[in-house]
Amino acid sequence: EISLVWLRRDLRLDDHAALHQALRRSRRVALVFVFDPDFLQPLLAQGARADRRLTFIQQSLRELDAVLRRMGSALFVEIGRAVDCIPRLAARLGAQAVFFNRDVEPDTMRRDADVAGVLAAQAVEFHGFWDHMLLEPNALRTGLGKPYSVYTPYKNAWLKRIGAADLAHLDCSALPQQVLPDASAPGLPALHDLGFEPVALPAGLPPGPHGARALFADFMRRIDAYASARDYPAIKGTSYLSVHLRFGTISVRELARHAWQRSLDGSAGAASWLSELIWRDFYIQILHHHPQVVGRAFKPEYDRIRWDDAPELFIAWCDGRTGYPFVDAAMRQLNTTGYMHNRLRMVAASFFTKDLGLDWRLGERYFALKLNDFDLAANNGGWQWAASTGCDAQPWFRIFNPVTQSEKFDPAGRFIRRYVPELAGLPDAAIHAPWLASPQLLRDAGVRLGLDYPLPVIDHAEARARALRRYAVVKEVA
Ligand code: FAD
Repeated sequence: EISLVWLRRDLRLDDHAALHQALRRSRRVALVFVFDPDFLQPLLAQGARADRRLTFIQQSLRELDAVLRRMGSALFVEIGRAVDCIPRLAARLGAQAVFFNRDVEPDTMRRDADVAGVLAAQAVEFHGFWDHMLLEPNALRTGLGKPYSVYTPYKNAWLKRIGAADLAHLDCSALPQQVLPDASAPGLPALHDLGFEPVALPAGLPPGPHGARALFADFMRRIDAYASARDYPAIKGTSYLSVHLRFGTISVRELARHAWQRSLDGSAGAASWLSELIWRDFYIQILHHHPQVVGRAFKPEYDRIRWDDAPELFIAWCDGRTGYPFVDAAMRQLNTTGYMHNRLRMVAASFFTKDLGLDWRLGERYFALKLNDFDLAANNGGWQWAASTGCDAQPWFRIFNPVTQSEKFDPAGRFIRRYVPELAGLPDAAIHAPWLASPQLLRDAGVRLGLDYPLPVIDHAEARARALRRYAVVKEVA
């Protein structure tokens, strides 16, 4: 019997739910990845021909293909709509079943339902498994039998429920004996064939399972310090594994097994890091149970808020030219590397919604275009948190001060100097709010405000007052 395993956001060959199940079921297994124009077109339409994520996927697939070729097989890579490619390949191989790992993104679920329909007509089975989160979205319910919508009780229930069985390694070691020989596979398509250009990936972004292992090994040497280091963007304090979790080049169970064990051994850093993996599960189950959060506020009364229409402020924010150095450094990190530190995501998103008064959906879309690790559930959750429109949101009357955040989390201005070099000559105390520096200090540092670096596009105190008025419509309703 032959089974086909359809790889999507799970680009690895070990500890893999769908592959594990296929190997248990069938004597022969083939693996396929589909470049689907329905998913690529929106990127191309936004002019993102040089997209790091495509290069990351391509290089990760190349690693998998090389491993499979050493086993006498190869990865099938198709270009076309999945609803056509998957049933066609299943028929060509004579597969009786297709195995895949489930997703909660609405577009993906719609696509999977279409594929399921065509396969059913061909009498091919279609089996989905939960793999990319630690506890599947229906695993936890409140006392009233409802899904959780507040993080802390969810986390407590999660920690109470999780056990070795949930984190168990899923054995895929039979793969070398069971792969379907297919040395005739033509090899991977070039990115040009898909309309994209290859991009050089930064050194901090090694692709594929190999790259994920290297990052994880490095992080395990630092994990005990995570709780104290994680909030400072100038420090190498976090794991940088988000892009690998996005594309499943490493198993989230494997990461959690290590963190869990280490936290049981008393590591506060590991316990804190595990909490971040729980945030990830939390937002995945929110998207699963509340798909309307795509495009709408989690709390409907927040859709009454009237956002400003200010394209010039939007552009200043995107370009890292708001005049607030911490925010600008954050945006320039995003634009040049595709990564942004978590503290900065919170500050940049808060500044966007509360200081600039812009609609969180616009900022969410910009992050989606730029982030290597873009994930609908986490990005939407993060933006709604910052805009105070979401579940478990930051209360709307609590507004980040971009200067205080800068002084607290980049006290010596090291991160700012890295991404806003035109301010590098300013002393530490002045770099967070250059417009307050004396003319002499600015002259000594070679900074001409308004020329080398912009004056602030808004005044924070005034913007804060405007935000409180803007959000008051919510209070009137509540
Ligand atoms: P670590 O600190 O090492 O954390 C480990 C892992 O936990 C991360 O890789 C990630 O998978 C998960 N994680 C950490 N924090 C969160 C969180 N708040 N929500 C969900 N998962 C989390 N994360 C994404 O993966 N994709 C996104 O598109 C995304 N957009 C965001 C947008 C905003 C406005 C905000 C405030 C946060 C967003 N995050 C997103 C969450 C977080 O900022 C990143 O996961 C983190 O910065 C990635 O760096 P790391 O891997 O070094 O994280």
